[in-house]
Formats: sequence, C-alpha cells, structure tokens
Amino acid sequence: MKPTKSRCLSIFLALCTLPLVDLAEMSIASNSDSLVPASANGKSSSAQADSVEQTSQSEPKEGDSKIHVAVITGGHGFDEESFLSLFKGHDDVAFDHLAQEDDSEVFEDISDWQYDVIVFYHMTQKISPQRQAIFLHLLDQGVGVVALHHSIAAFQDWPEYEKIIGGKYLLKDRAEKEGNGKASGFKHDVEFTIHLEDHPITQGLKDFKVQDETYINCTFEPDNTPLLTTDDPTSDKLIGWTRTYRNARICYIQPGHGVSIFANETYQSIVARAIRWCAGRM
Ligand SMILES: [Zn+2]
Repeated sequence: MKPTKSRCLSIFLALCTLPLVDLAEMSIASNSDSLVPASANGKSSSAQADSVEQTSQSEPKEGDSKIHVAVITGGHGFDEESFLSLFKGHDDVAFDHLAQEDDSEVFEDISDWQYDVIVFYHMTQKISPQRQAIFLHLLDQGVGVVALHHSIAAFQDWPEYEKIIGGKYLLKDRAEKEGNGKASGFKHDVEFTIHLEDHPITQGLKDFKVQDETYINCTFEPDNTPLLTTDDPTSDKLIGWTRTYRNARICYIQPGHGVSIFANETYQSIVARAIRWCAGRM
C-alpha cells in the first residue's frame, strides 16, 4: 500500500527527530529476519565496521546535528580531489567516501549504518537481491539519495533502480518487452546553459553556464519534479529533478562529469542544497 503524503511526512519527521543510532538499531530490530545477513554480528561484518570506524569523519556524536552523508563511488573514473571538495567546507555536512570494490558492498551489512543521505557517484552494476532489499529498507527509513551524473547508468539490470532514481541512461538498446528505447548517448566538453526551475534547492540562484558532459535519450519517470533544464541540442531537456520514493527524498543532477563544473559555485550550492533537501532539512 502506498502511504499517503501526510503519512509519509509524519514518518519522515519522526525519523528526523530520532538519533541516528536509533535508526540503525530500529532497522536491525524490525527486520532481522529478512534484511540483515547472517554475518551481521559475525566476524566479517565487524571487520568492515572497524575499518569504517577508523576512517569515518561522520560518526555521529551526542548533540551532533550534522547531516551524515555516504558518498558512494566505483565503476567509473573521476577526479577525486575536485569531486570530494563538493562535500567539504559545509558546517552542517559530514561525509565518508565509500569507494565500492564489489559494486554495492555498502548495502551488505547496515548494522552500523549512520547516514542520513546517500550521494551516488558510482556506475557499478552488480547488486544482489539481498543488497537490493537492504537499500530499499534504507529508503523506507527515510534515507535520502542525491544521484549525480553517471550514477543514472548504474545497476542497469535492476529495473527498480530506474524507478528510485527517476530515470535511466540506457547503456544499450532496450528490448520491446522491457519498454523499448534506443541506447542513450553522451558528449564531452559541451558549453551549455543550465536553467533553474523554481524549487527550494535553486532559490535565489541564477541560470548558469558550464562546460561539462551532456546525455541524450535517457528515460524519465513521469512523476519527477523538474529542477534543472537545458536547451542544448546535445542534451535531453530535463537534466535535474526531485522526487519521492517510498519514504525517501531523491534528487538527480545530470551535470557533474569533471573538474570544471565542480569548481562552479552555483553547481556547488545546488549539490549542497540537494543534500539538505534530501535529508529533510529544507
Ligand atoms: Zn561523465
């Protein structure tokens, strides 16, 4: 059953007031049978937890009001220093960079989950049914998702991912029984103007010019709320949107290939605000 809007909001607000550690405990307690793997309290998971603990910048402390963000990469090259600079220098944001080596291991064990928002900048493909279920469970708990650029081409063989993100970059032609569609395309180093739609994320900002990669012939879910558009002929018109999926706020931003756009102040503001919006903080 699809929750009503007001129910979604009340669950969401209730979750926002919970300390993060309670969120993690609740997710284990209420779903220990189906979602948390048998190894959750075993040796392999504690090894993983140790490594997170040693490197985590974002472990919540008492009275901590920061938004804790898991930045997920893997499956595609990128300029790490300039990309990660997007998440630095914000008083209200703490992040961990979780580079995936096995495509989606972040969703293997959430017994130590501490994040309000996931930022996807990955293009990995493998996600087991168990990891899918754990990811969906996080969305049920109100964990938001900011999906950037090539993350719209991740998990191509999992149809639900397209519904979560609100679209798909088709790496190959899609068969008729799957809903049809020609493979999507890309073009690097395009100079184009990004038009801002009216939204809390764009409030007070102005349309801006960038040099970045465009995509064309992606798919779009009909219930996306437009956030960014462009008239450039090498691109689809809609290049950014927000949506809700289960109890989660989702924001997709198509531009984000490289160093040039990461240095753009308006783009930096949009990414930071998207994190806040997906965390329910604006
Ligand atoms: Zn790219």
